[in-house]
Amino acid sequence: MRPSASPFSPEEAAVRDKILEVHRRLVELYGERTRNKRRDPVSVLVSTILSQNTNDTLRDRAYKRLRERFPSWEEVRDAPLEAIEEAILPAGLSKQKALRIQEALRRITQERGSLDLSFLKNLNVEEARKWLMSLNGVGPKTAAIILLFSLNMPAFPVDTHIFRVSKRLGLIPRKATREKAHQILERLIPPEFYYTFHLNVIEYGRKVCTSRNPKCEVCRLRDLCEFYQQEDRG
Ligand code: SF4
Repeated sequence: MRPSASPFSPEEAAVRDKILEVHRRLVELYGERTRNKRRDPVSVLVSTILSQNTNDTLRDRAYKRLRERFPSWEEVRDAPLEAIEEAILPAGLSKQKALRIQEALRRITQERGSLDLSFLKNLNVEEARKWLMSLNGVGPKTAAIILLFSLNMPAFPVDTHIFRVSKRLGLIPRKATREKAHQILERLIPPEFYYTFHLNVIEYGRKVCTSRNPKCEVCRLRDLCEFYQQEDRG
């Protein structure tokens, strides 16, 4: 029997090999990630909208205030907009985010009859992504976070750290858009690695391959890095 043809072009296969090696080294460094108790998809949706253009600490503060003041998502949906805005102030862009959260909660209720996104589990990943991205303020990253973290579906979210590190390593072209980055990485990373790879690359981006002044001198991925080779000090 002839071996089945690889689904990857030679260029893609080379990038995939690099991804596997990056994954192996980061697992050596940070380990495999185990899934914590999964949060329901509506909670992840709200939390991810809050996280746009801010850091985790401020997102968490805003989320906590929101939950303290409005213990159910129905109450968040039906509250006066200004009350939501006030509750989520720490996350910034509170007017826009409050509007997006309420619009999303109302749309889910209209279409599904209740605040429940578990129906997405019955769709394939592309259908589920399309549905989520039809919500105002939900882009490819937010959709992939909900799919991967809450519904355990095979989607790979590309945040700012993953976008930067992937470009530097040459896993995606320098000029790739965020949307393109999602498509390329989701195709080339084996789905069983999505969860660990996502968290490990973010940690590496925060600690070593930082936005400004990356710590190339101590980097374990240096020999794989296009940015380093181009910037090579000889
Ligand atoms: S060599 Fe520098 S730029 Fe390349 S991955 Fe490592 S820290 Fe980032």
